[in-house]
Amino acid sequence: MTPPADPSLTDSPHALVCGASAGIGRATALALASIGSRVSVLARSGDALNSLVPELRARGAPEANAIVADLDDREALGPTVDDLLGRHGAVHILVNNTGGPAPGPLLEATEEQFLEAFGRHVLASHLLVRRVLPGMRESNYGRIINIVSTSVREPIAGLGVSNTIRGAMASWAKTLSRELPPGVTINNVLPGFTDTDRLRTLAEDIAATGDRSVGEIREDWLASVPEGRLGKPDELAAVVAFLASPAASYIRGVSLPVDGGRLNAI
Ligand code: NAD
Repeated sequence: MTPPADPSLTDSPHALVCGASAGIGRATALALASIGSRVSVLARSGDALNSLVPELRARGAPEANAIVADLDDREALGPTVDDLLGRHGAVHILVNNTGGPAPGPLLEATEEQFLEAFGRHVLASHLLVRRVLPGMRESNYGRIINIVSTSVREPIAGLGVSNTIRGAMASWAKTLSRELPPGVTINNVLPGFTDTDRLRTLAEDIAATGDRSVGEIREDWLASVPEGRLGKPDELAAVVAFLASPAASYIRGVSLPVDGGRLNAI
C-alpha cells in the first residue's frame, strides 16, 4: 500500500511555475505563495522575476527563487533545472505554462511554426516532468498542472498552430496520467478569454489581418461568454492552486475549463 503524503511536506511544498513573469503564470505563482508553498519562478526576463520574488515572500512563500531560462532552449533548460533541484530540493508542484503560438490560419502555417510551438509546449513540459519526477516519486507527492486552452475541446478560428499544439499537449498529459505513479497527478487547466498581455496582443494581431477593430473583436469575445466578462488571471490561478493542493489528490488526467461558461462542449 502506498503511504500517505508526508504531512510536513504538504505544509510547504516546492512549486516551479513556468512563464511566471506575466499573466496567468504570474498570478499562479502568487496564489501558490498565498497557500504557503515555496515558489521558484521561471521566465526569460530576470528583471520581471526579480521584482516578483519579494511579492511572493510578502504573500507568504517561505522561500522564493528566480530562474532565468528560455523554454525554447531545451539544451540549457535541463542543466538549469538540475541546478535548481540541487540547490533547493525536490519540486512537488510543476506548472507548465508558456507563451501561446502566434495566430493565423492553419493553411498558412509553416513547418517552423509547428516545430517551435511543439518544442516550447510539449517538449519543454516533457523535459521538466522527467527532471522533477524522481523527487515527486520519492516524496510521494506530485502535482503537474498544464495551462493549455479551451481549444482542446473546441478549436478556435484563426489559431491554427495553437489548436494543433493544444491537442497534442492534452493527449500527452492524458497518456502520462496513466503512467505516473500514485500520488503524482497531472491535469490541464483550460483558460477561456483571460485578461492578460497575451489576449491584448491576440486582439491586435487579429485586427491587423482582418476587417474588425480591436474593440469589435473584444465585443465579439464577450458576447460568447455567459458570465459577460473576461476572466481574471487570479481566477485561473485559484483553480491551479486547488489542483496543486492535497485536496485535489483524486483528480487525475482531467482538462478543466475556466472560461465563464463559453464552451458549448459538455
Ligand atoms: P502571457 O503572454 O501573458 O504570459 C506568458 C508567460 O510565458 C510570460 O511570463 C512570458 O514571458 C512567458 N514565456 C513566453 N515564452 C517563453 C519562453 N520561451 N520561455 C520562458 N517563458 C516564456 O500569456 P497568458 O495569457 O498568461 O497565457 C498563458 C498560457 O495560456 C499561454 O499558453 C496562452 O496561450 C494560454 N491561454 C491564454 C488565454 C488568455 O485568454 N489569456 C486563453 C487560452 C489559453
